[in-house]
Amino acid sequence: MTSRQWAAITLVVLVIATAAVALLRVPWVAPPAPRADQLAALESLPADAVAKGREFRGALRPAMYLSMAVGLVVALLLGLTPAGSWIVEQVGRPFNGHWLARALLGGLAIVFVGEVVALPLAAWRHTILKRYGLSTQDWGAWTVDVLKGYAVGAVIGAIVLVGFFTVTHFAQRWWWAWGAAGAAVLTILLTFVFPVLVEPVFNKFTPMPEGEQRTRLMAMAARDGVPVRDVLIADASRRTRAVNAYVSGLGPTRRIVVYDTLLEQAPPAEVEAVVAHELGHAKDNDVLTGTLLGALGAAAAVCALYLLGSWTGLLRLARVDSIAEPRAVALLLAVAAVAGLFAGPAQAFVSRRIEARADRHALRLTGDPARFEAMQGRLSLVNLGDPDPNPVEQFLFGSHPTAVERMAAARAFARGER
Ligand SMILES: [Zn+2]
Repeated sequence: MTSRQWAAITLVVLVIATAAVALLRVPWVAPPAPRADQLAALESLPADAVAKGREFRGALRPAMYLSMAVGLVVALLLGLTPAGSWIVEQVGRPFNGHWLARALLGGLAIVFVGEVVALPLAAWRHTILKRYGLSTQDWGAWTVDVLKGYAVGAVIGAIVLVGFFTVTHFAQRWWWAWGAAGAAVLTILLTFVFPVLVEPVFNKFTPMPEGEQRTRLMAMAARDGVPVRDVLIADASRRTRAVNAYVSGLGPTRRIVVYDTLLEQAPPAEVEAVVAHELGHAKDNDVLTGTLLGALGAAAAVCALYLLGSWTGLLRLARVDSIAEPRAVALLLAVAAVAGLFAGPAQAFVSRRIEARADRHALRLTGDPARFEAMQGRLSLVNLGDPDPNPVEQFLFGSHPTAVERMAAARAFARGER
C-alpha cells in the first residue's frame, strides 16, 4: 500500500476514535430546563441589569463579527494567493532561503501579519469593555497583555512550525504519520504544562488562605471524593470586574482556580456552588475528555492536510509545489481558518453538554438549587451577559448553557426532575 492509502485509512480510524471518545465521554442527554422556567427565571432578574447586559453584548457584536471576518479574509488572502509564499520567501532571503529559516521566521511572520491586522479590532473591543466598566486595565496594562500574548504565541508557534517542517523535510513520504503523532503528543503536553507555564504569565495564583471558607470548600471536595490539594485564587481583578472559576491541568498539574473578583462579589454559599460545579468537571475528568478529543482531532487534521496536498488547484493558487514546504505555511493557516469555522459550533455544542453535567453535579452536591440559581443570576449580571441570548448566536458560540437555562435546570431539579 502507498503512503496515501495508509494516510486515508489512518484518517478514517482517527475520525472513528474521535467519535467513540465523544460518544463515551460526552453526556448527550441535557438536564431538563423547561422554557417556562427559563422565562420565569428571566422575569426574576432585575430588568435594568438585564437591559444593560443586552446593551453591552450588542455593543460588542460589531467588533466580534468584524474581527472574525477580517481574520478569515486575511487568512484566505495570504493562503490562497501568492502573497503568503512571497512573504515567507522574503523573510528567508537573508538566510539564503534555508528551509528552517523559512519555516520558523516565515511562519511567524505570517502569523504576525494576522495579529497586527486584528490589533485595532482588539483595541476597539477594549474601549467597549472600559466604557461599560468591565475592564479594569488602562492602555499600558492592556498593551503589556497583548505583548505577553504575542510572546506566548511565538513560543508555541515556533515549536509547532519547527516540529512540523522538520518532519516534512526529513520524511517526505511519511511526514503525515510523524506529524499526526507529534500533534497528538503536543496537545497532551500543552494541557499538562499550560497551568504551570502559561497561566502564570498572565495572572498570579495564590492558595486560598486558611480559614472557614477554605475549610468548607475542602470538606465539600472530600465529601465529593475529589482529591483537591488546594483551591487557587487568581488575581483577575487586575484585568476585569468579571467573575469566573475554572479547572485546568491534568494529573499532577490539575487545579481549581477561582477569580478574586468572585470572592469579592459573591457570598460564600454562592462561591461554594461555583466550586461544586468545578468539582463536577474534576470528577468527570472533563479536562481529559477535552484533551483526548483535541489530540485525536489534531492528528486527524494532519492526515487530512496530507491528503489535501494532492489538490493541485489549491497549490497553484498559493503558488507552492507542495503543501509540506515552508512556503505553504499561509495555505495551511487558511485551511485551518476554514476548518475552524466548522469546528467552532461542534466544540461549543460538546462544551455546553459538559457544562450542563457539571451544573447537575453542583446541584446534587450542594443540594441547594435556590442558591445555585441565585449564583447563576449573579454571574450573568456581574459579567454583563445576556441571560437569554439570541438562539443562533448561542448555537454558534455558546460554550455554556444560557443563564436562564442554567437557572431553569435548578428549578427543575428543585421539583425533583433530575
Ligand atoms: Zn464549567
